[in-house]
Amino acid sequence: MVFSRMGIWLGFSILMLLCATGCERGTSAPAAANALSSSAQPPQNSSVPQMQASEPKGPVLRINPERAMEYVKDLVTIGPRWPGSKGQEKTAAYLRAKLKNESLTEDAFEGDTPAGKLAMRNFIAKFPGAKDGIIVLAAHIDTPYPLRNTSFAGANDGASSTGLLLAIADQLRGKKLEGYSVWLAFLDGEEAVQHWTATDSDYGSRHLAAKWHQDGTTGKIKAFILADMIGDADLNVLRDGNSTPWLEDMIFEAAKRLGYQSHFFAGEAGMDDDHTPFARLGVPVADVIDFNYGYNNSYWHTTQDTIDKLSPRSLQITGDVILETLRLLNANADKLPAATQAPRVPS
Ligand SMILES: [Zn+2]
Repeated sequence: MVFSRMGIWLGFSILMLLCATGCERGTSAPAAANALSSSAQPPQNSSVPQMQASEPKGPVLRINPERAMEYVKDLVTIGPRWPGSKGQEKTAAYLRAKLKNESLTEDAFEGDTPAGKLAMRNFIAKFPGAKDGIIVLAAHIDTPYPLRNTSFAGANDGASSTGLLLAIADQLRGKKLEGYSVWLAFLDGEEAVQHWTATDSDYGSRHLAAKWHQDGTTGKIKAFILADMIGDADLNVLRDGNSTPWLEDMIFEAAKRLGYQSHFFAGEAGMDDDHTPFARLGVPVADVIDFNYGYNNSYWHTTQDTIDKLSPRSLQITGDVILETLRLLNANADKLPAATQAPRVPS
């Protein structure tokens, strides 16, 4: 088993510490044991003062969890979706069909990988809002290249969050958004082609972050919220030490408002994921991830990552919390710290 994908630091109120290789990022992560108990207070690990959030704004939107699950099943049926696979092409066709009424942007590029140049493609569906600024919701669409000779179809790792974004698209479609524009980013090449390193991972998000940095888009992004591995029936979303504290606080606030706080932030980690390239550019980011999938994360990156481990309820919880976070972001626009162009994390 390789835990190289993410430097991880987990603290659970009982299980104190689970650490695998590559903990260098996590060592600076705050202690998280007892981080969230019944007091329902998120751990404060930031020099950013906690904002007094205003009431959320805009219509209440909730995903259709059954339909979200259908999307996840469709993606699993497509099969492995590593760069260069038939599944990658089928996924592209699937997204084009599902998002044909959105102004879908395709961002094709070649990832320079240990296996040579591999064709990759991000997809961005845009839902324009009345307010100047963009909220990006993201997920990765690929499965790991090293698992290409297995049946691995990433029900949780990849399909769950991709299906979730499609279910969110259903709620945004045809609505006049009074708040910020919402862009859904379906990212290719998140997984390492060989072993997880800074240059062998996050191909799609690194490419998109660089592109949007160059054309000035990153300066307009109010929040970049990534979902990953959120379909686990036993849902425990981590508080991520590499995410922006005020945005994590806002997500927790949204979870509390919906009564879902018991599924959030009992554990803590320093995640390296598709949000990292945007964090480096000063964009406020959050990784909504449950990186404890099966006992000791034993289903992760194995052929046990199958649809029977997932539940529509978990998709509903994460989807609705993200939609509620959008309302909080829209209501608190004037208090949001602006994105800074200066690198925040040394690369
Ligand atoms: Zn993965």
